[in-house]
This record gives sequence, C-alpha cells and structure tokens, in this order.
Amino acid sequence: MSTISRRSFIKTGIAAGSVMLASPKDARPAEVKTLPPDRRGVLVDTTVCIGCRRCEWACKNAHSLPAGDITDYDDESVFANKRRPDDKALTIVNRYEKIGDERFPTNVKIQCMHCEQPACLSACIVGAFKKDDTGAVVWDTDKCIGCRYCMVACPFQIPAFEYEKALDPKIMKCDFCIDRQKNGELPACVEICPAEALTFGKRSELITLAHRKIELFPERYYNKVYGEAEVGGTSWLYLASREFMELGFLKLGTNPAPGVSESIQHGIFAYFVPPIAFYALLGGVMWLNKNRNRGEE
Ligand code: SF4
Ligand code: SF4
Ligand code: SF4
Repeated sequence: MSTISRRSFIKTGIAAGSVMLASPKDARPAEVKTLPPDRRGVLVDTTVCIGCRRCEWACKNAHSLPAGDITDYDDESVFANKRRPDDKALTIVNRYEKIGDERFPTNVKIQCMHCEQPACLSACIVGAFKKDDTGAVVWDTDKCIGCRYCMVACPFQIPAFEYEKALDPKIMKCDFCIDRQKNGELPACVEICPAEALTFGKRSELITLAHRKIELFPERYYNKVYGEAEVGGTSWLYLASREFMELGFLKLGTNPAPGVSESIQHGIFAYFVPPIAFYALLGGVMWLNKNRNRGEE
C-alpha cells in the first residue's frame, strides 16, 4: 500500500514547481459550499502520457469492475476509435495522431473533472451529489432516484448509467478514489502511471506547477492550463502540446455550468409541477421499474 506522500504527490516547495421516494426534507438540491484551500487535484501532462492504459486497468481494479489481465491493455487497436468513459470504464485513454513536427502521438486520459462548482450536483433534485473537502465530487446511490438529470447537466458528458443492469442500476463515474484518498493512498490511476503523467496534489499548487512548466518549456507546451478556468474551474487539470480543441477537449466558457441546470430545475418547479408532486412521480416510476425488474429477474 502506498501513501499519499509518494513521488506523485506535490510537496510544499515543489510548487516552484433513495431514497425510492425522497422525503421532503431530503428532496432538495445540495448547496454549493465554500471550498477548502487545500483541496486536491490532478495535473495530467498529455505530453508525457505514453498511452499504456494502465490507469484504465487500475481504475477498474480499484472499483471492483471487470478489469481482465493487465497485458490486455497493450492492445493498441482500441485507439482506432475515440471512446468515452462509461459504467464499466470510469476512465479511458484516447490517442490523437501526431501532426507537424511532433515526434509522438498525444494520449489523453478522460474521467470526471471534479468541477469546482459541479453541474451534476446543482442539477440533482434530491441532493445525492456533494463536493467533498478532498475536491472529489461524489454521490450517494441510496439517495439517487435515477432521474439522470446529472447526465444531462454535466458539461463534460461524464455520468453514465448502468442500463444493462436489471436490478438497481446506478449512476457511475470516477469518484476520485475518495476511499483511497481518505486512507492516505493515491488515486489508483495516479499510483500506477509509469510515466508520471499524473501528478496528484493541492489544486492551487498544481496550477502553479503547470504554469511553471509552460514558462520553462514554451516549445513543449501550448500556453494554457485546461480546467483552470473552464466552467469555473475543475480539480483535474491538463497540459498539452497543442490547442486543446484538437485533442477532443470541449470549448467551454468560464461561467459555472450550474447556473444553466439550476435554471432548468427551477423552471420545472416554477412552471410545470410542484416539487413534492415531481418527486412523488419520479419515485413512483423508479419503484415500479425496480419491482418490474425484480419480477422479470
Ligand atoms: S465533470 Fe460532470 S460529473 Fe464530473 S463533477 Fe463536473 S459536472 Fe459533475
Ligand atoms: S481517480 Fe480513481 S476513480 Fe478516478 S479515474 Fe483515477 S482510478 Fe478511476
Ligand atoms: S497510466 Fe499514465 S502513461 Fe499510461 S495511459 Fe494512463 S496516464 Fe498515460
């Protein structure tokens, strides 16, 4: 078992470097709270990622998802298509072929960005999501009623739903290995990365480190830290050798996405149905679905 004090953790000084039916009390969106200054993040340096996909294996392994043999991940044919995280793979790596005088292709790891002001949290009508002090955006599967508002609201299209599961399908996404973090361990993907492409540490120090790298190696890095400002900032931050939009990143503004999802949510409540009726309807549909599924099973 490794500890957070391992090499990938930024130390001080380096910075120079369900409810089936939610009760009326529970049935409300979670509040966005003040974030602690030492909340964590990960800096993904796509210029050193070798596309080994060990992070994919480690993530599945850490979350009891079918992971297969680690050598299966040497199969580079998967790079023929651009993939997205789903309920069976909370993180994936895509490859972008080299252009111009680049010597290597660029590999981009994708997972939940753990937004500073998460749209998923804001959109969730039963307050199942929370932004933890670690920086992780996590959710309570017992509170979740399966409305999938979070999937619609997420600007990065991250939350996935276990459509294939007959019994108790759940929302799935990267949880920033919050249990490992609370045990003093690194996120599984960070720990296994052989190229040190993933640096775990305080978000504020990671931003300093990222700008320092750009300053020191302007020929290597495109002059931008993706996630520093997008949708109000994200815990996962990226460096790249070229314009991010060429690498599958979305062009997003700096305004937090919650404003949009809250407007939708409040619009529903204001003009469509009262909240209690809405929760009752959703809860009823979920109850019927779950019992039908159990009957079929
Ligand atoms: S990336 Fe999407 S799922 Fe992850 S915290 Fe942000 S809004 Fe939520
Ligand atoms: S932080 Fe944990 S859950 Fe998220 S991608 Fe890495 S291994 Fe998977
Ligand atoms: S383990 Fe590290 S080097 Fe390998 S694909 Fe994942 S981020 Fe890239």
